Amino acid sequence: MELQVEERELRLKHAWTLSRGSSTTKRYAYVTLTHEGISGLGEAAHNARYGESLDQVQAVLQGVGERLAPADPWKWQPLLADLGAIGGPCRSALAAVDLALFDWIGRRLGIPLHRFFGLEPDALPLTSVSIGIGDRDEVVRKVLEAEPHPILKIKLGGGNDEEVMEAVRSVSTKTVRVDANEGWKTPELALEKIRWLAGLGVELVEQPLPAGQLDGMRWLKERSPLPLVADEDVHTASDLPGLVGAFHGINLKLMKAGGILEAIRTIHTARALGLRIMIGCMIESSLGITAAAQLGAMADWLDLDGNLLIQNDPFVGAVTEQGKILLPDQPGLGVSLR
Ligand code: MG
Repeated sequence: MELQVEERELRLKHAWTLSRGSSTTKRYAYVTLTHEGISGLGEAAHNARYGESLDQVQAVLQGVGERLAPADPWKWQPLLADLGAIGGPCRSALAAVDLALFDWIGRRLGIPLHRFFGLEPDALPLTSVSIGIGDRDEVVRKVLEAEPHPILKIKLGGGNDEEVMEAVRSVSTKTVRVDANEGWKTPELALEKIRWLAGLGVELVEQPLPAGQLDGMRWLKERSPLPLVADEDVHTASDLPGLVGAFHGINLKLMKAGGILEAIRTIHTARALGLRIMIGCMIESSLGITAAAQLGAMADWLDLDGNLLIQNDPFVGAVTEQGKILLPDQPGLGVSLR
């Protein structure tokens, strides 16, 4: 197998602001894995929150490329386990290779990946779209722009929660989920916020406390009127036993898990432990989003909107209409360069 890597810059439609900072562009590594005349595509949407950088992704992919050269793509279980050891904590680099490998397999077999995994392509829950932190006017404008989408995910934890929620409810009665992105620093403050949000008809709250505060989360879960979903606290299946009793569900992302194989393992582990499942994303092109959507039927909630935040999406794949993600019929991921 031959692995080619190129970088692309994604320009965002709006500055993307979370409780931890703001950005207007993303520069990621993209891989093409070629074998027997067929090419699979992958994306590494690295995230600084998890200590990842583009340089680190490039270094990992160089090592992976050497290991892939003599490998057999049909031995994908041991191959991905082996590459996981190389990828180490840089899960997005591993995800890029995993995506490209499964894309190759689907293309070689001539079937979409949802079919390869035995999933119903019409059984995806509706996706939310995210509204980043902003002042009242910005939030109102973004909520109005999101008019075709039935579910909103509102980012809080930026210090103006009341202003943001008031702005949202002044123009919309849609289903609202809240993501605090670790922005509330104590369980007592988080409980106060969650009770207030329950009164506003919010459906669930994601990552109220900083990651690692599992004692605080257990205290909070006993009292919370709303389901609590882990995001920054979960990467792979190995994290899940520690989250039982602390959260009602998890937000699984291909870029945190290291790709499709570990995502499926995480989904089965979560089900066995009684945790509900959201499949979410980073800011990703239609490549990463379509890959995640291939597994969408396995989720209780979807939050696959990263591609909708990008001005110059380099890829065409799944299409989102009124929150419904329409999977492509093409083999593999079903993604092509625009
Ligand atoms: Mg989140």
